[in-house]
Amino acid sequence: MRIVNTTCIFPKGYDIFKALDRLKSAGFDVADIALDYYVETNGGFVSDGWREWTMEVKKHAESIGLELYQCHGVGLPEGFYNNPNDYAYRGLEFAGMTGIKWVVMHPQEIKGRTAPEFDNEFVEKSIKWFGPLIEHAKEVGTGVAIENLPWPNCNRIAPLAAIVDGLRAEHSGAKVGICWDTGHANIFGTRPSEIKVLGDRLVTLHIHDNHGWPDDEHQIPYYGTYDWTEFIHTLREMDYKGEFVLEAHHQMIDAADDIELQNRLMREMLEVSHKILALP
Ligand SMILES: [Zn+2]
Repeated sequence: MRIVNTTCIFPKGYDIFKALDRLKSAGFDVADIALDYYVETNGGFVSDGWREWTMEVKKHAESIGLELYQCHGVGLPEGFYNNPNDYAYRGLEFAGMTGIKWVVMHPQEIKGRTAPEFDNEFVEKSIKWFGPLIEHAKEVGTGVAIENLPWPNCNRIAPLAAIVDGLRAEHSGAKVGICWDTGHANIFGTRPSEIKVLGDRLVTLHIHDNHGWPDDEHQIPYYGTYDWTEFIHTLREMDYKGEFVLEAHHQMIDAADDIELQNRLMREMLEVSHKILALP
């Protein structure tokens, strides 16, 4: 399992080329790109020349020996995932062009209907909403990993598994699975071992820590209460084939004016990840 770090440890609008350079300098050889951050700022991703910009990003990563493995896709504020002009589709194309294997996407929240009795509705609507995106991902050569988010139905494993099963059944040949976010799970007290039932639906991870309900703190592992020993044992039992993808940006953002401290935090992220992977 390789250790992957993300550009979202740098503030929104931070130069993407500089972000990739700093990840590489800190010892990371594989990266995740927080594309959602580049929608909110007037950068290359939202420009008319976004395809050229994408190729520059790809070339730059290759030139410094940094593999682009994953990205955080772009979601829609509300409604349906069926507008091909939306940045959600552009994000998938970006991934296809750069060789990114997994685009992590958020399900839609059905406001006020997150109790277990609405799970069937959540599953059916999600399969419908994600369908066109899954097809587009297949066309452009990438995969979609649906993330557990910090609201109740989106943190229950059964409906998430049912969404993946439904999408796999309807879109043969498409790559679709779950991105398990450890911090979001900890907010709801979901034990690490509970993800075993996901089996091969678990394709990637968002690794960060917190102190449980209610704050989504996105801290470096061991700054919170998550059980990293149980987690790594579970991944081994599942024969998990994906990578160890950090999403622990909180302390880095707090240290935005202190490059020395940021560099120390990045080293700490790398060291603690190695420690977790080596846990007996
Ligand atoms: Zn996440």
